[in-house]
Amino acid sequence: MTNLSRRALPEAPKTFGLFIDGLWESAGDRALSTRIAPGYGLPVTRIPLCSVEDVNRAVAAARRVFRAGLWSRCDGASRAAVLRRMAEGIRSAAAELAYWETLESGKPISQSLGEMEGAAQNFDLAAGLALTLHGESANHLGEAMLGLVTRQPVGVVGLITPWNFPMIVLAERLPYILASGNSVVVKPAEITSATTLMLADIAQAAGLPAGVYNVVPGTGREVGQAISAHRDIDMVSFTGSTATGALVLQASTSNFKKVGLELGGKNPQIVFADADLEDAADGVAFAMCFNAGQCCVSGSRLIVEASVADQFLDLLQDRLARVRIGDCLDPESQMGAIATPEHCTKILDYIALGEAEGATLAFGGQRRDAPGWFIEPTILTGTLNGMRVASEEIFGPVLCVMTFRTPKEALQMANDSIYGLAASIWTKDIDKALTLMRGVEAGRTWVNTTIAGGPGQPMGGFKQSGIGREAGMLGVEEYTEVKSVHIAIGKRSPWVR
Ligand code: NAD
Repeated sequence: MTNLSRRALPEAPKTFGLFIDGLWESAGDRALSTRIAPGYGLPVTRIPLCSVEDVNRAVAAARRVFRAGLWSRCDGASRAAVLRRMAEGIRSAAAELAYWETLESGKPISQSLGEMEGAAQNFDLAAGLALTLHGESANHLGEAMLGLVTRQPVGVVGLITPWNFPMIVLAERLPYILASGNSVVVKPAEITSATTLMLADIAQAAGLPAGVYNVVPGTGREVGQAISAHRDIDMVSFTGSTATGALVLQASTSNFKKVGLELGGKNPQIVFADADLEDAADGVAFAMCFNAGQCCVSGSRLIVEASVADQFLDLLQDRLARVRIGDCLDPESQMGAIATPEHCTKILDYIALGEAEGATLAFGGQRRDAPGWFIEPTILTGTLNGMRVASEEIFGPVLCVMTFRTPKEALQMANDSIYGLAASIWTKDIDKALTLMRGVEAGRTWVNTTIAGGPGQPMGGFKQSGIGREAGMLGVEEYTEVKSVHIAIGKRSPWVR
């Protein structure tokens, strides 16, 4: 059992170094970025901002160990053992990891603890996949030919992660990258680097060879671009906004590296009149408040059948009024802080914009008076997909409401977006559920639930929500190269006669 008593704030900010080739380096003369805890307005960590030179050294270390074969050519069972020990290491350190995650990100401590367990589960799953990853054989090519399709690690992978889920986004990629034998250079978001750095000690204690996991914190403009453009990185995996994803994709053409992109969303919650409306209201409340709406799969558009719209909004508001917002280290808190004051202002500006565009502020809309940056769950009714509030990713606890009359209209509204990351469908009619599930353009689709499920199923987006899939066996395969092999059997039929 985790001890859920409230831990005090740190007396002084904790200073981190960078981690290259199995060694910690202190910040030295690099600039330090001080992170102000969004839940408390106090400095909590100091993170070095690495240079392009640091990236080059990390890539060289990752390449060296990849070539040496210590990890890339060892057997799956050995890799699985290390990944399992990493899972155990995360579980043992969960309270400490969750504490720093909460301080840097502003998420409630109970959520951070849950995310550490989720991270460990990804390492457990990837351990199993390291044991079972294999290719194919083609025994149907005739008497004189045997075909093989082998998978091998792609090489050195650059991994760029966002601030909203520092550990869980890392854990939905890293163990799958490691499972097939790749080496990694990670750049966490500059404002939430602590747990990515802390994982280095866990990896080392678990027996991951030096140089396989390197962490170079720093800015996106310098370190992120250097990774994306690096000619000796074979693949870049980027999770973040669609606008930054485009920059990564452009930079990746330096050597036409493989690219995985997990980007933004404007995710519909489609509620039919025949749904269990109590369940749906609870799900919609959760999906808009989870991580204070700073979540790629956040349910940010409610598409509700007109005949029950008023009733449903009453049920929803009743629940939103009871969401416990605030003190991130309090185990009872359900909704935490907005990541930065700038982002807080951006969300409030969007709410004002919604009203200017003709929407009605039906619930919330205010910043909470607290030392940190908190925004109430907010409902804007009377929105249309053509409005900016209903089409752009606000990345805050703001729900845009629109109504429909037929399933066809609901589907058309849901798909009227540049994004295609996630969708939830609430109905007790199996035909409607299956028809909508088939028709909705979203990489992750939930029926009568939302933001649910473990790492066994792949995640990723349609349209401008991304390229590729993460987690599960598909997640491992993304980070492999496929080799097609033909082996002749018997005497060659001569070409030169
Ligand atoms: P962001 O795009 O600003 O930053 C993401 C990462 O990219 C950070 O590490 C940042 O430093 C780096 N970066 C910034 N500029 C860069 C550049 N020019 N080149 C390379 N790297 C650069 O995103 P964010 O604000 O940290 O995160 C929020 C966004 O992430 C939202 O759009 C959200 O939907 C998305 N997200 C998507 C998923 C998913 O799985 N689809 C998961 C989490 C977050």
